Amino acid sequence: MEMDSLIEENFRVLAPQKKALGKLGLKTVRDLLFYFPARYENFSERKNIVDLQEGDKTTVYGKIVEAKTQRTRTKRMSLSQIIVGDLTGTINAVWFNQPYIANILKIGDKVALTGKIASNKSGLYIANPTFEKVDSYADLSGGSALLAVYPEARGITSRWLRFNIQKILPSVSRTNLQDPIPERILKKYHLPDLYSSLIYIHTPQNPGDAEAARKRFAFEEIFFIQLTRLKERQERDKKHSFAVKITKKEMDDFLKIFPFELTAAQKKSINHILGDFGKKTPMSRLLEGDVGSGKTAVAVAAVYAAVKSGYQAAYMAPTEILARQHFQSFIEYFSQLRLTTKIGLITSSECRKYPSKVAFERDKGDGSTHISKSQLLKWVENGEIPILIGTHSLIQKSVKFPAEDGKGLALAIIDEQHRFGTKQRASLAREKSERIPHLLSMTATPIPRTLALTIYGDLDLSLLDEMPAGRRKIITAVVPPEQRGRAYEQIRAEIKNGRQAFVICPRIEEPDPDKLGALNVKSVKEEAKRLQTEIFPEFEVGILHGKLKPAEKEEVLDDFRGNKIQILAATSVVEVGVNIPNTTMIVIEGAERFGLAQLHQLRGRVMRSSRQPYCFIFTDSDSQKTKQRLAALEKARSGFELAEYDLKFRGAGELSGAKQWGISDMGMEALKNLKMVEAARLESQKILKQDPELEKHPLVLKRLSSQKSKIHFE
Ligand code: ADP
Ligand code: MG
Repeated sequence: MEMDSLIEENFRVLAPQKKALGKLGLKTVRDLLFYFPARYENFSERKNIVDLQEGDKTTVYGKIVEAKTQRTRTKRMSLSQIIVGDLTGTINAVWFNQPYIANILKIGDKVALTGKIASNKSGLYIANPTFEKVDSYADLSGGSALLAVYPEARGITSRWLRFNIQKILPSVSRTNLQDPIPERILKKYHLPDLYSSLIYIHTPQNPGDAEAARKRFAFEEIFFIQLTRLKERQERDKKHSFAVKITKKEMDDFLKIFPFELTAAQKKSINHILGDFGKKTPMSRLLEGDVGSGKTAVAVAAVYAAVKSGYQAAYMAPTEILARQHFQSFIEYFSQLRLTTKIGLITSSECRKYPSKVAFERDKGDGSTHISKSQLLKWVENGEIPILIGTHSLIQKSVKFPAEDGKGLALAIIDEQHRFGTKQRASLAREKSERIPHLLSMTATPIPRTLALTIYGDLDLSLLDEMPAGRRKIITAVVPPEQRGRAYEQIRAEIKNGRQAFVICPRIEEPDPDKLGALNVKSVKEEAKRLQTEIFPEFEVGILHGKLKPAEKEEVLDDFRGNKIQILAATSVVEVGVNIPNTTMIVIEGAERFGLAQLHQLRGRVMRSSRQPYCFIFTDSDSQKTKQRLAALEKARSGFELAEYDLKFRGAGELSGAKQWGISDMGMEALKNLKMVEAARLESQKILKQDPELEKHPLVLKRLSSQKSKIHFE
């Protein structure tokens, strides 16, 4: 069988199956061969019919001793029924409205039925089982002792997949499927080669086979992601960057503008950055720190160094709210310098410049003024505006920086970098040019160490592992419904003391009541109304969500900042970066709808001052899993602790939308294994060191380029 031929050229594929295959991303024979089982059913644990119990999910093997199809009198449904027997007993199997069953299953046939055992007056039965005619039980699995169970899609069954994949296996050989992992590495880590692994994963003789194969494929995935990242870094390191120079004294003087003493972690990170600036190659650094750890101050220092050296800096944030907030912080800090530094803001809804020349033009309290986009871009292109802050608008083609020596964009900063794709990052960092800016990526997403090693393998890491002095530990409480009133009283008391609160709801509006599953989820609009009229009539309740116009958002935030609004009902748009230190309480409704990392980010919104912060969590879910997760949130001290927890109990796939990183569920499993991840890293570093262009590793190179065209890490 030709590995690159289409599935339908080799197998009978009906229209709904074709659609399902498309959905699973399976086109070629090779794709099918690399579609792996989700689990296995163990024959040796198979029960005899006499031992079956209600609730068992199992496969029953036996011979058909009776078969009939009839119409039910009352409901006009067809009912197909067979009785299957083995040496120990018999059991009924029934199918509703599948009359064709009678044409397929006949008395005397040997069958395997898979389904759930139920019971009624006349005893145990299996309802609507999937079935397979087989001569012997072992036939099912192609002679394997374990029966592979594949992830299904509507229109395609695990049985179909197993049946056809087993037809491919005989045409697999070590010559038509070459192993991209060098043999030396396989030997070193006792991993089976590609050929054996494929046989093992589809038709294992014992659980150990299957596990060895999964380990190998997981290693392969992590290894090639890391190799891709390291190769990207290698390419970056070939480029020249800008000589950003600043003396220690100049920097120390600048740092005095902050109304606080920097933490040791912030100082260390600034030193890392200055160290990078001193090299010829561009900086590639990730600044990772929990929400509220003070990443902005580090960024401000880096920007100062670039600007002081005569260059420009660009600072990209994922939302307009954040971009504007950063714009204001930069104005606040840079306005204290003796010489005013010009600062620009670019978003899709407006452009601004600080300072405005004429007083009456100052339409905002911050001393900035609205200007046209073309005017702003002109000033950026001739170098007159050294600091440019913005959203995605920053990476439009029309945004240009001067190209002469001694000028230009020397520093690109990306805030909340996980919200951007690799392409956007590359675009801001001008990766295609000859001379590229230093790159500082920032993130508060707490991710496990193994995931960081893998997806950020191309970045040097600075950690803000220390909170500014005087911060209080947040009190997080999962509030049972009967204590809602008490929680509100506590909030009332805090607000009377001058504090403010966020109330986060999972959706903006009341759902269409006809839509299933949408009920019972609180909406910003309804909840705000309820809070205003029924709970907190004495306070002002405001609304913030993604559907408001930028100007409306800004007005609400200004009112909130000025404490004209005491309670802000919002969707998770406040998740990223919003900084309003007087807000010390956050209420989260429908908490089961948010991931742990996201919940942690949300509560980070109120950990920004020296006052005691509170997080009140409500959930309607009774599920044990939700309860455990929320209990972890109550206890955890840091985002990293939570991330490790999530990885252990839920799989990294659910962390911070990990699918965006293009890692499969199996790869995510591998991330639970620090040793494996470190081994993959070590080996990929070694290969690139010995053979930078991979000339001696053609299979590795081939695999890397095919991977590049498939995964974009977005
Ligand atoms: P994040 O890391 O989440 O981006 P920010 O940079 O927004 O955090 O900082 C959060 C708050 O902490 C801001 O109000 C900032 O002014 C303040 N802050 C930052 N560094 C310090 C420090 N060393 N001491 C006290 N407050 C600080
Ligand atoms: Mg921030």
